[in-house]
Amino acid sequence: MIQLIKGFKDVLPGEIEVWQTIERAAKETFENFGFQEIRLPIVEKSELFSRSIGDTTDIVEKEMYTFEDGKRGHVTLRPEATASVVRSYIQHKMYAKDPIRKFYTIGPMFRRERPQKGRYRQFYQIDAEVFGIDSPYLDAQIIFMLATLLETLKARDVKAHINSLGCPCCRPSFQKALKELLDAKKEHLCENCLRRSEKNPLRVLDCKVPACREAVQGAPSILDHLCDDCSDHFETVKRVLTENGVEYAVDKHLVRGLDYYTRTAFEVLTTSLGAQNAVAGGGRYDGLVKALGGPEVPAIGFAIGFDRLAEIVAMQQSIEAKGPALYIAPLGERAIEAAAHWMMQLAAKGVSCETDFGGRSLKSHMKRADKLNATHVLMLGDDELDKGMATLRNMATKEQGDLPLDGLVETLAERFK
Ligand code: ATP
Ligand code: MG
Repeated sequence: MIQLIKGFKDVLPGEIEVWQTIERAAKETFENFGFQEIRLPIVEKSELFSRSIGDTTDIVEKEMYTFEDGKRGHVTLRPEATASVVRSYIQHKMYAKDPIRKFYTIGPMFRRERPQKGRYRQFYQIDAEVFGIDSPYLDAQIIFMLATLLETLKARDVKAHINSLGCPCCRPSFQKALKELLDAKKEHLCENCLRRSEKNPLRVLDCKVPACREAVQGAPSILDHLCDDCSDHFETVKRVLTENGVEYAVDKHLVRGLDYYTRTAFEVLTTSLGAQNAVAGGGRYDGLVKALGGPEVPAIGFAIGFDRLAEIVAMQQSIEAKGPALYIAPLGERAIEAAAHWMMQLAAKGVSCETDFGGRSLKSHMKRADKLNATHVLMLGDDELDKGMATLRNMATKEQGDLPLDGLVETLAERFK
């Protein structure tokens, strides 16, 4: 038997209900905040990711699914969505009419990581991005929106962690101070970090190797190096979050896995998932649109790890599949043909419906209706057909009564609306 590849997974009925609930809640929440959905390709030119995410990141160094595609050269299965959203924003000159645009997109991402609990090679993200606003009110609003969604989903044990990464004006002085510390701790750093401490010392703060984590414990705080503008920006973000009831922790060592962030960076962490504790991550990336060939437009966004969020939501509440509103139980050949007719008519008019053409006994029909969690059963036999009637049974109250077949679709469509 052919089995799926390690690191990939099927989301089946039983689990999918949680996914659907999350997806609906995300769409509704984001649309209330003025976001529009976009759908983008899964494959992009490799250069898009190496240029935007950065050469010294885990993703670009070792996690991308890249292959040659004839004349197109190297293409990559997208490891994240931001780069594609930016590419699309620039390519379609979406800034021309109004530079302020708010998008969300939901879909699979691909990273060649070591598969483990909460870490897959194909995983899903719910991604939101805003272009054209540099105000710190937006940063707070974005984090508030994320917190609102998590609250709607009753996800407990989650908390926003925030930091500022400064800007090209103040970050170099922090990088210098950090580099001095890293030089002093050289013998404790992993090979990756040794390389990164030369090219991009901030990355070392994001390393997951315990020895590296230990080594950077006493690292300087970027918050002590912020220029006045970045500092004011960060203070406003914190104030607005507090004023609007969002709980957060400032984490001075929070950097993000990607190079393009400026100023506000944040992650939502949970205590319920063990080692894979990041549920969402995001931040401001004011320089990226320009760096990818667009105009100078500030931007901010985040991505939620859909798989991890689904796991948390499933742990904390049970969301069950809804059964059909109606199960038609036909008894006899003529009734089966009538059931086929009524099921098509009813389902087409919006009454969720199920039946069985197998010539079961009434008892066996009732068993199946029960298993499917049907709320009502319509019993149809030859006698009933002759009389132009059927019997409708409410599975919860066990009450039943006769219904004329004439006008059945209208009656039931009205009743189960
Ligand atoms: P991590 O620190 O767990 O590796 P990351 O910083 O690489 O996360 P981001 O690039 O910020 O992750 O992606 C946003 C979110 O996507 C993460 O917070 C996480 O919930 C989810 N995510 C990232 N990689 C995976 C994966 N391989 N499998 C499942 N979810 C993932
Ligand atoms: Mg990662």
